[in-house]
Amino acid sequence: MENSIKQLLDGIVHPETGEGIVRSGIVEKVTANTEKITVTLRFRKARDPFALKIKNEVAARLRERYPALSDRITVFIREGEAQQPAQPAEKRTTTDRIAHIIAVASGKGGVGKSTVTANLAVTLRNMGYRVGILDADIYGPSQPKMFGAEGYVPDAEHDDATGADYILPADAMDMKLMSIGFFIRPTDALMWRGAMATNALKQLIHQTKWGTLDFLLIDMPPGTGDIHLSILSELKLSGAVIVSTPQQVAVADVVRGVEMFRHEQVNVPVLGIVENMAWFTPAELPENRYYLFGRGGAREYARANGIDFLGEIPIVQSVMEGADGGAPAVLNDERVERYYREICSRIVENTLKSC
Ligand code: ADP
Repeated sequence: MENSIKQLLDGIVHPETGEGIVRSGIVEKVTANTEKITVTLRFRKARDPFALKIKNEVAARLRERYPALSDRITVFIREGEAQQPAQPAEKRTTTDRIAHIIAVASGKGGVGKSTVTANLAVTLRNMGYRVGILDADIYGPSQPKMFGAEGYVPDAEHDDATGADYILPADAMDMKLMSIGFFIRPTDALMWRGAMATNALKQLIHQTKWGTLDFLLIDMPPGTGDIHLSILSELKLSGAVIVSTPQQVAVADVVRGVEMFRHEQVNVPVLGIVENMAWFTPAELPENRYYLFGRGGAREYARANGIDFLGEIPIVQSVMEGADGGAPAVLNDERVERYYREICSRIVENTLKSC
């Protein structure tokens, strides 16, 4: 019924424009049933000289077409532009002064993703960049431990001028550190999964007082899941670094991880693969390398999939001690520092290339 009314009314033209009143948007709304008909006309001009004439003509045509409803036909006139539904306030985010956001991801847990993230962060800082770390690994947030910031309780700050609320990050060796671990106890892990963790993370992303940063590294949860989806939709990532051990590299989890970033709707450049725990060198035989888990797997996988191979890190006791002791190994072990510097140079180069 409403469509046939619209058809009927479009036969009425506005004398000034010569256009049908439906086509030109003057008929804003038609509601009709077997009981009554209501039509709302909106004239852009205030006090349109033809408004009354058109209103009367609309009523007359409707009465003529629907005589049974003739005393239940109402035509309203409105003036001016239609009120737009209130736009949601522009999304506030504290990330707009971060030049590059890089996800550090892995197919499985335990391959050293968090350790690598911490060492990359310190190395980038040593190269002179302003760095932040977001620990989003809800299953095992370990960045606070890596930087000796386990007891940190984030404070909130309110900005009276803008009305914005901020969460203050920890200072980790002159870097900004925020971790989901500051908000959960290990025993809470299960209940924090899913929606709650996703919401908490969104808040950490957009409300942490990051300030101006060159790089924000995100320690992602292992694998692919809801948290990844949420981070990918909340943030524009400059790229992703994949961490793998030699024996994990070819397994489906790594492949899935790479595919997740490369998916056409996600489209985050994979900056490269880091092979962690690539070999072992005993202290008493410093020239010997034992490839405990096979050799060259990550390099080969990277080549076959058009991904850059960023470099390899051996199994080193100092790396483990550094991770546990609140001081990432690059700070105390020159060899490790060299490996990381090379990897970071490639990351920086590939990030700049892809932006
Ligand atoms: P993930 O974040 O992938 O779960 P972690 O970074 O927590 O992995 O590392 C798992 C364990 O392996 C930690 O105890 C860490 O100290 C150790 N580790 C990581 N990389 C190395 C390495 N290159 N040499 C020795 N130990 C390492």
